[in-house]
Amino acid sequence: MPLSVRECIRELREYIPGKNIEEVVEKYGIPPEKVAKLASNENPIGPSPKAIEAIIRTAGSVHIYPEKGGWKLREAISEYLEVPPETIILGNGVDGVIEGLMKLFIEPGDNVIFPIPTFLGAELLAVASGGRTKYVMRDENFEISPDDIFEAVDERTKMIYLCTPNNPTGNVVEERVARELAEEIDALILLDEAYVEFADSSLLHLIEEYENVVIMRTFSKAFGLAGLRCGYAICSPEIRKEYDKVIPPFDVNRVAIEAAIAALKDKEFIKMVIELVREGREFLRKDVPFKTYPSQANFVFVDVSPFKSSFITEELMKRGIIIRDCSSFTGAKDTHIRITVGKMEDNLRVVEELKKLKESDGFN
Ligand SMILES: *Cc1c(COP(=O)(O)O)cnc(C)c1O
Repeated sequence: MPLSVRECIRELREYIPGKNIEEVVEKYGIPPEKVAKLASNENPIGPSPKAIEAIIRTAGSVHIYPEKGGWKLREAISEYLEVPPETIILGNGVDGVIEGLMKLFIEPGDNVIFPIPTFLGAELLAVASGGRTKYVMRDENFEISPDDIFEAVDERTKMIYLCTPNNPTGNVVEERVARELAEEIDALILLDEAYVEFADSSLLHLIEEYENVVIMRTFSKAFGLAGLRCGYAICSPEIRKEYDKVIPPFDVNRVAIEAAIAALKDKEFIKMVIELVREGREFLRKDVPFKTYPSQANFVFVDVSPFKSSFITEELMKRGIIIRDCSSFTGAKDTHIRITVGKMEDNLRVVEELKKLKESDGFN
């Protein structure tokens, strides 16, 4: 027993990801090819063939350390976004970027504000750095009220985490709100744009005006490289300089660097993914037989009242469909689920099964 493990870590709850295909195969005896995984917002058609080519091409040189700092990838992102390479930081996924930022900014006793329900991956990393979390409830449409945030801010507030589009609700942070917070609050405004490729707009341009704004992006979602773990952020050159001191020198691996560069260049592929997702998203919003919310991401948030989310999740799993029960998201209700937009055949399947569940008697 490692007696000296820090108390704040002992008290942490472990992060529980969505169920994976293997668990469903084992529990319900469904063949793996019959399982639809619509739970983790992954890209349903996988990465660009060009990225796969790059992975294979790089495989033979994995005995060599990657270039320190991954500047080749920063150059490619710089070109893609038309921002200077000195404003780009890299990480082992957005998770890695957040971890690095926590190391930079959080002293024991500092706090990070989260408008909930939202993605709380950053919460564990804040607490692991000795920080605390403060929650602010969103309104019934999951919008953020700047006044509520101002009220929660104190002298130990170091960051406001804003997910846009928000996981799990799908709505974006309005530019007006982001500006107001960036102007009024002396803390980092962390904008998590993990799903921005599926959205109508981005807040990237705010980094030109506000030194306290950081825009985080990932290759895990639209680019289909979740398994490779590669994320990045755009921030002020000053934050970039300090950040580069605290992350492990070879944080982003050689294969991920090459795959990410290839993925960025394949504009046709990413366009096709976005079209597929938007089409599927419209379909789910229209045909899921429960209340759905507008979404700018690759998932749809659903209120399955009068059913419980745990019941619907379990019943769908028995039928080989994995979705996300959102009752474990702090601030969500026990009737909320999140469905990742999948291939059209899977979208059709989840709608069919939900309709059958809703119509079947005896479950109410
Ligand atoms: C999936 C997700 C991430 C994780 O991104 P990685 O780059 O895979 O670490 C970050 N933020 C949000 C909101 C996500 O949903």
